[in-house]
Amino acid sequence: MFSYCFFEHDLRTRYGAKVTALLPERYASWLVDCANECQPDQDIMRVLIVEDETRLARHIASALTEAGHDPTIIPDGETAIGTAEETSFDLILLDVMLPGMDGFEVLKRLREAGIAARVLMLTARGEVNDRVTGLQLGADDYLAKPFAMQELLARVRALGRRYAEEPTLILRVSDLVLRLTDQQVHRGPRQIDLSTRELMLLKVLMREPGRVFTRTELCERVWERQHEYDTKLVEVFIGRLRKKLGSPPLIRTQRHVGYSIGEPQ
Ligand code: CA
Repeated sequence: MFSYCFFEHDLRTRYGAKVTALLPERYASWLVDCANECQPDQDIMRVLIVEDETRLARHIASALTEAGHDPTIIPDGETAIGTAEETSFDLILLDVMLPGMDGFEVLKRLREAGIAARVLMLTARGEVNDRVTGLQLGADDYLAKPFAMQELLARVRALGRRYAEEPTLILRVSDLVLRLTDQQVHRGPRQIDLSTRELMLLKVLMREPGRVFTRTELCERVWERQHEYDTKLVEVFIGRLRKKLGSPPLIRTQRHVGYSIGEPQ
């Protein structure tokens, strides 16, 4: 009984009222499911929505509010940069098509100003260049318009979960350093040139050193939908990354599961 109470207390502390309300059933495994389900609500994020289409911006804001987040709408880039400098946001939803300064320029200036908030770019459907440009400039993810609100919420949740730690401008694993401001990668004094995909893959791994990512997860993060479960692609790119990063090796294979990055063993 003691262990159960302890578990219950732990869940209450970590996941709050939603789990507490469900407690009378008292089945530990069920509670774990519950906790997993409730977890996204715990990641309340301050979200800056930079979008000039008023209806869409409001629609996004209300969906985010309903999901327990704290959104602010700004319709243009210039104001958005000022707001982001004054207030710290966990996530910036940044539309590419904005009046005056476009989303790419905004992203560039945000990073130049040392703002490390995660950025999810909203791009036009089919504009592959938009996506690549955004990622090169340091966006964390992208979503093509038009999108289903559920999909947007899922991305927001994923960014919140994945990068729960304080946003940072430098990722470091052993002597490997990835600067998010200019996307430069160094191992010791040696600069490493990476393609956009390789960089994205490395960024995902380096955001959470030690965590094992499945091939499917990496596919979803780094490639387009049509490749979603083409896990061979991940193996190929991991191979290239390993080669470029050199030794001692930092990327580890967890047999039948996936990959992680960490201190050399
Ligand atoms: Ca727009």
